[in-house]
Amino acid sequence: MNIHEYQAKELLAKFGVPVPAGYAAMSVDEAVDAAKKLPGPLWVVKAQIHAGGRGKGKFSELGPDAKGGVRLAKSVEEVRANAEEMLGKTLVTIQTGAQGKQVQRLYITDGVDIAKEFYLALLVDRETGRIAIVASTEGGMDIEKVAHDTPEKIETLTVDPATGLMPHHGRAVAAALGLSGDLAKQAGKLLPQLYNAFIGTDASQIEINPLAVTEDGKLLVLDAKVGFDNNAEFRHPDIQELRDLTEEDPMEIEASKYDLAYIKLDGNIGCMVNGAGLAMATMDIIKLNGAFPANFLDVGGGASKEKVTAAFKIILSDPAVKGILVNIFGGIMRCDIIAEGIVEAAREVDLKVPLVVRLEGTNVQQGKDILAMSGLPIIAANDLGDAARKIVAEVNQAVPA
Ligand code: GDP
Ligand code: MG
Repeated sequence: MNIHEYQAKELLAKFGVPVPAGYAAMSVDEAVDAAKKLPGPLWVVKAQIHAGGRGKGKFSELGPDAKGGVRLAKSVEEVRANAEEMLGKTLVTIQTGAQGKQVQRLYITDGVDIAKEFYLALLVDRETGRIAIVASTEGGMDIEKVAHDTPEKIETLTVDPATGLMPHHGRAVAAALGLSGDLAKQAGKLLPQLYNAFIGTDASQIEINPLAVTEDGKLLVLDAKVGFDNNAEFRHPDIQELRDLTEEDPMEIEASKYDLAYIKLDGNIGCMVNGAGLAMATMDIIKLNGAFPANFLDVGGGASKEKVTAAFKIILSDPAVKGILVNIFGGIMRCDIIAEGIVEAAREVDLKVPLVVRLEGTNVQQGKDILAMSGLPIIAANDLGDAARKIVAEVNQAVPA
């Protein structure tokens, strides 16, 4: 789960992390009120969307010469004019895709004079099974470019979970950023604050870009992107409240209501599978047969009729889906119960695309009989390879390559 920049900064501030003062605004009036509460003489008006690259982003409705999603303002009136121009508009950045994202919230912050911009991130490194600290002197807007062109300018350290963060990590980061004296001390203070925030919120990522050195010699977090481990959601009801559903895929929201693990993908074969491993194998074998899955969908071990129906509806609400492959292993769940669920769901949603079903496991024959006698145009498959070949053939017939 992700949150907005202003929420991330408010959260980090609770752990002592230094951030500029600022207020979120949902309307032009709120933006003006926010600006009046700040001292000036410089303000920043920042579009709040769940995507980076806002500074260099473009608004679809404004001309190519219009400013991006992060704007400096020198008066309250300028804040007002920028808020009027930005709210409700669609911001396209390198991270949003071509369709962009509508700006519904702004963040009005104290503007600071920047001497230097660094990059600093904490994330879970799956290879080492540790929290990694990534630091670079090349902060600002294009860390992807730095990673590609000059990877030697990015320093990575990992934290041994047995010891936790140690003072040497702070010194190493200060050295990597070329900081000495008081700024090195500030870095040594900042790192444990960020680490505590990471552990304390079960974060999966805290990315600060830029971490600024101000003209008056302070380290300040100017932009923060924080993501959380969904598996630890239940431990943080307060963070759950920060969820902004308008930023999430509507189908993924619907799936989460039924406790289905659903992720939309780019292909045209909808998949309904039980178990994450089987779902991965199903996606692989579709690809092996030259087609692409439209989604990852794990209905879980105890898939009920209601879950199967919900899963069908979610798959079918994706206009890209030209065929469905159901691949279920009846272990705890019996195949006959699953077959009944499939038949009922297929009737309820008025299925118009080809449906291939592969069942295996407990009561498989009863399950196959139920599908065969349903009168629905369900194509039965004997094994995983057979199922993949059949659905790919059906879809290719419907949409010639
Ligand atoms: P992003 O483009 O989505 O990553 O948004 P950021 O919050 O990182 O802002 C983009 C850029 O705007 C930063 O890299 C800074 O160069 C600039 N910026 C942000 N806040 C301030 C500020 O308070 N003062 C000045 N001078 N520039 C700022
Ligand atoms: Mg940034």
